[in-house]
Amino acid sequence: MAIKENVQTVLVTGASSGIGQGIAIAFGMRGANVVINYYSDEKGAADTLKKVEAGGGKGLILKADVGEEDEVLRMFKEVTEEFDGLDVLINNAGIQDDSAFADMSLEQWENVMSTNLTGQFLCAREAIRAFGKQKGRGAKGKAIGNIVFISSVHDIIPWAGHVNYASSKGGILMLMKSLALEVAPQKIRVNAISPGAIATDINDEVWKDKKKKKDLLELIPYKRIGLPEDIANVAVFLASPDSDYITGTTIYVDGGMTLYPGFVENG
Ligand code: NAP
Repeated sequence: MAIKENVQTVLVTGASSGIGQGIAIAFGMRGANVVINYYSDEKGAADTLKKVEAGGGKGLILKADVGEEDEVLRMFKEVTEEFDGLDVLINNAGIQDDSAFADMSLEQWENVMSTNLTGQFLCAREAIRAFGKQKGRGAKGKAIGNIVFISSVHDIIPWAGHVNYASSKGGILMLMKSLALEVAPQKIRVNAISPGAIATDINDEVWKDKKKKKDLLELIPYKRIGLPEDIANVAVFLASPDSDYITGTTIYVDGGMTLYPGFVENG
């Protein structure tokens, strides 16, 4: 199928809930072709599709485990066939599997690394390959392709009891920066968003509990928990020609969580 002029084709991994769903909807509202990747939540993906279409976008649901190479290759083949190319990858899929370090099994370590780091590597590599085949695409004189990694404030804030998760996000920081350096001459931009606390399924046991929510707000100078839209608005900006001179950068969208709020009254 031929794509419409100036319509972005955007692949959002992990778009069946939370931040990925919010990002997919935001691109849908701008008339984009949105590929909604999911792993297990088929109903969630269908809900995202409905909302993308309601906003005026065109949606396509693709199931794939981002940590499995053959599934990622198949997903990218289907995307580029359906939409005749790709403009933006939002590398969002991620999980937590928490444990005290001494009790952490190899399986817990590998599960998190597979989805959060290997998955982001595999999808980024396939996006770079797709961008390389479509020179001349994109707004005149601007990037021919964009990758946005969804990382976490835990790419720089250590997190006890979550060593596998924090290690995977620290890995994304250097994956993003090294890749940005390598592909900038090809006019491909690579950036990251590091969210603070955003109310989604991944952390619902915290923001649904009154006491835990109060403790969490102590860590957020701006005194509110974030919403998927807070991340989605920045993702749309990073994927647009308005941010064409930004590459290799992480935007922390965290209500000030990385400002070391413990130093407000101490130190
Ligand atoms: P979420 O609501 O639990 O969503 C996670 C998404 O990832 C789901 O769509 C899930 O799909 C997908 N996923 C999980 N494993 C997958 C796999 N192997 N292959 C493909 N998709 C997979 O969590 P979220 O908060 O929106 O998290 C999204 C990203 O933001 C993650 O990278 C997370 O680390 C990051 N983040 C979140 C916060 C926060 O406070 N919420 C803060 C910092 C960073 P299914 O449900 O279909 O299995």
